[in-house]
Amino acid sequence: MENLEKISVRNVEQFYQHPTDKKAYIKVLENINLDIYEGQFVCLVGPSGCGKSTLLNIIGGLIKPTKGDVLVDSSKVNGPGSDRGMVFQGYALLPWRTVLKNVELGLEINKVPKKDRKRMAREFIDLVGLSKYEKYYPGQLSGGMRQRVAIARGLAYNPKVLLMDEPFSALDAQTREILQYELLNIWEKTKKTIVFVTHSVDEAIYLANEVVILGSNPGRVVKKLNVDLSYPRSHDNSEFQKLRKEIWSEISQQVNKSSNTEDRKRSDDYEIA
Ligand code: ADP
Repeated sequence: MENLEKISVRNVEQFYQHPTDKKAYIKVLENINLDIYEGQFVCLVGPSGCGKSTLLNIIGGLIKPTKGDVLVDSSKVNGPGSDRGMVFQGYALLPWRTVLKNVELGLEINKVPKKDRKRMAREFIDLVGLSKYEKYYPGQLSGGMRQRVAIARGLAYNPKVLLMDEPFSALDAQTREILQYELLNIWEKTKKTIVFVTHSVDEAIYLANEVVILGSNPGRVVKKLNVDLSYPRSHDNSEFQKLRKEIWSEISQQVNKSSNTEDRKRSDDYEIA
C-alpha cells in the first residue's frame, strides 16, 4: 500500500516571550520538518522543556507557529478541526457535566444520534474502567480518573488523527499498561494516525512505529527511529533493549548539551526504566 502523507510539518519555528524580559523572545522550536503517514503511530520524546507539547499544540491548531506551516491531508492548519482530536495532560473536562456527559460530548459534536450516544459513551467509559463512576462530576474524581475520562472522550470523538500529550502520565502503572494495550488495539482496528508525546522512553518503544527524538534549546528533530518490532511488544526483548539504550543515550546527550547552556532546563525528570 502506498504511504499517504497525513500530517506534514514544514519549517516550523516557534518563539515565546521571555518570562522576565518582556522585550526578549526565546526560540523554542527551530526548523521542524516532519512527515507523518496515514495510520502511523508516532511518539515524540525529548528532554523536558524541549518543545514536545508546543509542537503537538501547533499540529492541533491551538498554537499558530511563528514561522512555517502544518498541513493535514494537504490542507493548511489554521486552527483546531474535527479531523484532529486532542487528549491533554490537563484533562480539559467540563466540570458541570458528569463523566457520561463529558464522554458524550465528542459524540454530540460528531452528530451521533442521541439514542446511540449513551451506549457508545458507556463502551469507552467501560474501556477505561470507570463504569461505576459515570454519574460523578470531574471534581469528585482523582487526577488519574479524570485523565481516564479525558482519554475515553478523546477516543469516543473518533477523529482520524489523535494527538495525545502524556495521556497516561498521571496513572498508576497497572492502569497505564491496560490503557497502552487498549490504545494499540484501537489503533490496529481503526488505523488512526496517532501522535503521542511521552517522557517515557519505554512507553514510546512499546507503542510507536516511529520515535522522533527532539533536542532542546531550541527544540529540533535530532533523530527518527523506526520501531519494527511486532505487537504486542515485550520490554525484555533484546531489540527493545537496544532501542532503549540508543534513545536514552541520544536524550542524555541532549540534556547534557542543554544543561551547559545559560537557559538551563530541568533534566532530572526523565525516565530511564
Ligand atoms: P515539553 O513538552 O517538551 O516539556 P513545552 O512545549 O511544554 O516542552 O515547552 C517548551 C518551552 O517553552 C519551555 O521552556 C516552556 O517553559 C516554554 N513555554 C511553553 N509554553 C509557553 C508559553 N505559553 N509562553 C512562554 N513560554 C512557554
